[in-house]
Amino acid sequence: MLNIELFLIYLLVSILFIVAIRGLSRPNTALLSNRLGMTGMLLAIISTMFVLPEQNHILILIAIFAGALIGIMSAIKVKITALPQMVAVFNGLGGLSSTLVAFAQMKNMQTQYLDISLSVAIGTIAFMGSMIAYLKLQGNFAKILRKLPFHNVFNLALFIIMIFSWGNFLVYSTIDSLFYLMCFALLWSVAVTMPVGGADMPIVVSVLNACSGFAATAVGFSVSNVALIITGAIVGASGTILTFIMTKAINRSLLEVLFYNQTKDEVLKDIKDKTVRSASPEDAAFILENSSKIIIVPGFGMAASEAQFALKNMAFVLKNKYGASVKFAIHPVAGRMPGHMNVLLAEAGIDYEDVFEMDDINPEFRTADVAYVIGANDITNPAAKTLKTSPLYGMPVLDVYKAKTVFFVKRTLGTGYSKTDNPLFFADNTMMIFGDAKKVTENIVKDLEQG
Ligand code: NDP
Repeated sequence: MLNIELFLIYLLVSILFIVAIRGLSRPNTALLSNRLGMTGMLLAIISTMFVLPEQNHILILIAIFAGALIGIMSAIKVKITALPQMVAVFNGLGGLSSTLVAFAQMKNMQTQYLDISLSVAIGTIAFMGSMIAYLKLQGNFAKILRKLPFHNVFNLALFIIMIFSWGNFLVYSTIDSLFYLMCFALLWSVAVTMPVGGADMPIVVSVLNACSGFAATAVGFSVSNVALIITGAIVGASGTILTFIMTKAINRSLLEVLFYNQTKDEVLKDIKDKTVRSASPEDAAFILENSSKIIIVPGFGMAASEAQFALKNMAFVLKNKYGASVKFAIHPVAGRMPGHMNVLLAEAGIDYEDVFEMDDINPEFRTADVAYVIGANDITNPAAKTLKTSPLYGMPVLDVYKAKTVFFVKRTLGTGYSKTDNPLFFADNTMMIFGDAKKVTENIVKDLEQG
C-alpha cells in the first residue's frame, strides 16, 4: 500500500472517530455512532497490517485474537455496576501499550527521543494511576494506605526526581535511563492517586483518560502514524475538557483535587442521637398517588440494584394513571462514572425529554411534591455546602430538601462513596424507605397499579 493511500485511510479513520464521538452525546444517535467508531477501528487495524512486514502478521493476529477475546469476555461478564472499574483498566492498558511501543522504538535509530520519553512518562502515569483508580473503585484499599505523612512534600520530591530522570534520558538516551524514567513516573502516579478519594475520584479518572490519549499521540509521532496522533489528541482533548467540566461541577480546582485532597471520614456531630421517620412502599405509593409533581433522583444504589426498569414502570404509571409530572434529575458525578445514570436510564427506555441536568432541575425542587431519591446519597448531601472538612465540601448538590416530601430509598442509614453522613435523613420532611432499590420500587409500582 502506498503512503498516500495509507494516509487517506487514516484520515478517514479519524473522521469516523470524530463523527462517532459527536454522535455519542445524544442517546438516539449513540448506537449508530458506536458502530461508526467500531468500523473506524477495524479499518485502522486492517490497513496497518498491510504496511507491516508479512512475518509479523501471525504475531499480530494472535495479539488481536487475545485482545478481542478479553474484550468480549469482559463485555459479557462485567456487571454494569463495575463498568467504571472496567473503563479504568482499559484506560490504563492504553497507557501501557504506548509505553511498550515507545520502548520498542528505542531500536529505531531515527527515532525522536522526546516523543519516546513523553510516551513512556505519560503512558506509565496513565497505566499505574488507572490501576490504583481501579483498586480504589473496587474498594480494595484500606483507608490507612490512602495518605502518607507529608504526602505533598513527598509528591513534589518525586516529581522533581522524575523531571531529572527525564532530562537524564534526553541527554544519554539509553534504555537504562528510559527505564529509570518509567520507574519514577510509576512511583509518582501511585503517590498522587493514592490519597484521592470521595467526590474527587471521577476527576482523577478523567485526568488519567486524558493522559492515555496524550501518550498515544506522543507514540503516534514516534512511529509516524497519523491515525494514532489524531485519535490520541481527540482522547487527550476530550479527557481534558471533561476534567474541567467536572471540576467546575464540583466547584474545585484540579490542583485542589490532586494535592489538597481531604480524605477524612466525616461524622456530623450529634447526628447519631437523632431519629429518622421511615415509610413502607405502601405509604410511599399513597403519597405518590396524591402528588402532581415528582422528581426522581437516581444514584449509585439504583445502578447496583438495577432498578432502572422498575423506575421506568413507576414513572409510566404515575404519568398515565395519576396524571403526575415526573422528571429525572441527574447530578454530574452520580454513580461511579460520568454519564452513569444517563446510560442506565436510556437502557431502560426512559424518555430523554424527562431527564434534566442539575442546573436545570435544581430550581424545580421548590415546587415539587416529592423528591424520590433512589440509591443516591452524596449528590444530595447538604454537608457539601456547610462542612468545610468534608470531602464533599464545595460540590454543588441536588436541592432535594426543598421538595415537600423527600423519600430516600436505601438499605441502611449508611454513608455513600465519600463516607460523609447525610443530615437530610433526619430532616422533618424526609422519610426513609429501607430496602433494595429495585424491590422497593417494584412494590410501589404494584401498589400504584392496584390503587
Ligand atoms: P453514593 O455512593 O453517595 O450513595 C449510594 C447509596 O446507595 C449508598 O449510600 C447506599 O446506601 C445505597 N445503595 C447501595 N446499594 C443499594 C441497593 N441495592 N439498593 C438501595 N440502595 C443502595 O452515590 P451517589 O450516586 O449519591 O454519589 C456518587 C458518589 O460517587 C460521589 O461521591 C462521587 O464523587 C463518587 N464517584 C463518582 C464517580 C463518577 O464518575 N460518577 C466516579 C467515582 C466516584 P445503603 O448501603 O444504605 O443501601
